[in-house]
Amino acid sequence: MAEAGNAGVVVRQVAVLGATGSIGSSTLDVIARHPDRLRASVLAAGRRVDALLALCREHRPDHAVVADATAYAALRDGLRDAGLPTRAHCGGEALQALVAGEACDTVVAAIVGAAGLPSTLAAARAGKRLLLANKESLVLAGDLLTRAAREGGARVVPIDSEHNAIFQCLGAGNSGLARIVLTASGGPFRGRTRASLATVTPAEAVRHPKWSMGPKISVDSATLMNKGLEVIEAHHLFGLPGERIGVLVHPQSLVHSLVEFVDGSTLAQLGLPDMRTALAVGLGWPERIASGVAGLDLLQHGRLDFEAPDLDAFPCLALAYQALAAGGTAPAVLNAANEVAVSSFLQGRTPFLGIPALVENCLAALPATADPDLETLLAADAAAREYAQRRVAAGAFA
Ligand code: NAD
Ligand code: MG
Repeated sequence: MAEAGNAGVVVRQVAVLGATGSIGSSTLDVIARHPDRLRASVLAAGRRVDALLALCREHRPDHAVVADATAYAALRDGLRDAGLPTRAHCGGEALQALVAGEACDTVVAAIVGAAGLPSTLAAARAGKRLLLANKESLVLAGDLLTRAAREGGARVVPIDSEHNAIFQCLGAGNSGLARIVLTASGGPFRGRTRASLATVTPAEAVRHPKWSMGPKISVDSATLMNKGLEVIEAHHLFGLPGERIGVLVHPQSLVHSLVEFVDGSTLAQLGLPDMRTALAVGLGWPERIASGVAGLDLLQHGRLDFEAPDLDAFPCLALAYQALAAGGTAPAVLNAANEVAVSSFLQGRTPFLGIPALVENCLAALPATADPDLETLLAADAAAREYAQRRVAAGAFA
């Protein structure tokens, strides 16, 4: 597993799940800056074999995993033709076994959507250092995942920039914590009325003003569902009820979140909007390591603005608070309905305002079950997907 590097520092063996995505690419950038202390030992992706092979040539991992079985032969042959010693694997079970086994001591969970849950859970149970970007797994099964991490002895470092900011501000622990405030850029449609959003296109929705990210989270940022998912994520990571988690729109995206203590102190973490900072925090913790991100020149930026979120134009945020308050299977339903709605919006089959409508309908149609186990959560996820897909097929977005 971990080996001693030149300077006697232990070299972390890192599994990068979602290696071909936006977070995966930022992770590999940070890893490549620290060959004396970090190594990508496992790279996993969905089905983009060419992109995965290019990463294998560059980072020479021990294992490469593709989710889609039909892509396995291309991965295996590509690795062989490139003369690489990297072993090819496919499917969820192979990925979970690698994540839980000797192949890595650190796991970057950056698969998009509920598809990331099994591997994230496996890393938590196996007590790995878990750099958690895959917020959907916390929304779907936060209680189970945090319990698995506790029981497995996993150190979870949140990678979502807001939660990473809070993690940094909390330092030693939650003593005297009063509330947290998540900042939101407001997305590409900040300041727009609800009526004006009826005709926005996928191309407009993914054009985020501050962050460069994958398509799903970009649409979530445009609806503010991303912030809603993050409220639920913060609840699980920091143990606070929804009433003590606020949201503040901050268009410059330089303050990544704030923590308020009982003595009136508020701490914030600031930095340029670049996920490599959060990833370097997770990879180096408790030490600070270079990320490639420049320091913040506040004189150059000049000002920091804050405003309240507009819940009329962006009802997804209120729906997420509602699902958190309902508890049980409600957040799983919210997440699954949203995944279906976003995917069908990106395919041009659902209007932008159909996203909150579908999520609201699903929450109303599938009432929450309390204290769900994993099976119940997965059944709620499946039922919500089926219900949302039927409504998309029927064109029922009201
Ligand atoms: P992305 O779309 O750029 O990348 C997703 C990755 O997941 C790809 O490598 C893809 O191949 C892989 N993947 C998809 N389905 C898979 C499956 N079934 N099995 C294995 N791999 C699969 O997405 P992203 O923007 O990098 O986001 C990844 C996760 O990180 C999301 O949960 C997102 O919410 C979270 N996150 C991202 C950012 C960001 O800046 N991009 C910030 C905060 C949180
Ligand atoms: Mg975030």
